[in-house]
Amino acid sequence: MKRIQLGNTVFEGENDAYLLDGETTALVDTGVALPDVREELAAGLAEHGVAFADVDAIALTHWHPDHAGLAGEIQAEGDADVYVHEADASLVDGSEAPLFADHDLQRETFDRWGMPEPDRERLTAFFDSVSAGLSGRPADVTTFGDGDAIDAGGVELEAVHLPGHTAGLTGFAFDPREVPGHEPVAGADATQELFAGDALLPRYTPNVGGADVRVERPLAAYAESLARLVARGFDAAHPGHRERIDEPGLRAATILDHHRHRTRRVLDALADGGPATAWEVSAALFGDLSEIHVLHGPGEAFAHLDHLADAGVVERDGTAYRLVDPDPDVDALFPTTPLDDAVDGSAG
Ligand SMILES: [Zn+2]
Ligand SMILES: [Zn+2]
Repeated sequence: MKRIQLGNTVFEGENDAYLLDGETTALVDTGVALPDVREELAAGLAEHGVAFADVDAIALTHWHPDHAGLAGEIQAEGDADVYVHEADASLVDGSEAPLFADHDLQRETFDRWGMPEPDRERLTAFFDSVSAGLSGRPADVTTFGDGDAIDAGGVELEAVHLPGHTAGLTGFAFDPREVPGHEPVAGADATQELFAGDALLPRYTPNVGGADVRVERPLAAYAESLARLVARGFDAAHPGHRERIDEPGLRAATILDHHRHRTRRVLDALADGGPATAWEVSAALFGDLSEIHVLHGPGEAFAHLDHLADAGVVERDGTAYRLVDPDPDVDALFPTTPLDDAVDGSAG
């Protein structure tokens, strides 16, 4: 298994695509459909004697253009099967427009977040400026669901549905001993590693709420996904961005803890400032934001407020949220995991 590092100036920074080259040839994720990234991927594959036309299968962790962008182009050259979770399929096969290309969906979303007009205009202008470059060639997709097996380069991948960041986000579990040219990260005892996509990232918490506005109860969904990651006890995770994660369970528990802390900060913001919209809570948490963060900040605040509203801690009044339970048991709003004690007080 080979990791191919790709540039990404639009979203979370450098992307990873993974090459599985055994009996057949497969990729996990592809990078964004910009000309220089296309060239980077082609050059990275060529180092291993692989051309786009040689790729038999592409397993996509989620629909985001920095992961799925080049799938259609690669498929056009060699007829690769493109696998994506059923909940993300419509955004990869082109039958549904993503938020960045859908002005009606933008209006609806920004209304819900209580976003002021000048900020909407700024974000819409940003979307319009990147949209053409982000819209990769649509792919013909083969959909899968949780627990399905996918053959990728002669390696069996188990689909592990981890919704939150997107509706269909899926990690792919595999036995590292079966992968040609891949030394199991945790040594000979390792039996389960994971391609994690953006469910788990090494340096920051994956965005929930803004990254896919179709997800219902995004924070609850993501918290369950993190608890599932802890429970599975993977020996290593290969994320969609940046470097390998050697203790994925601990990382998942740390991100879960981070969300407990963030929930407390949301409650503090409402206690100090009175009823507030997702936009106003975002400003209290993150300050002024630019570019894609103008989407991610209020999206994240919305995910937290929505979670608190479901629990009856806040009440929605128009676009504002009012605190009705000033001293809730925040820990009880999230799943507990066996690793919670290991991360206590080290939220990051
Ligand atoms: Zn993503
Ligand atoms: Zn990503």
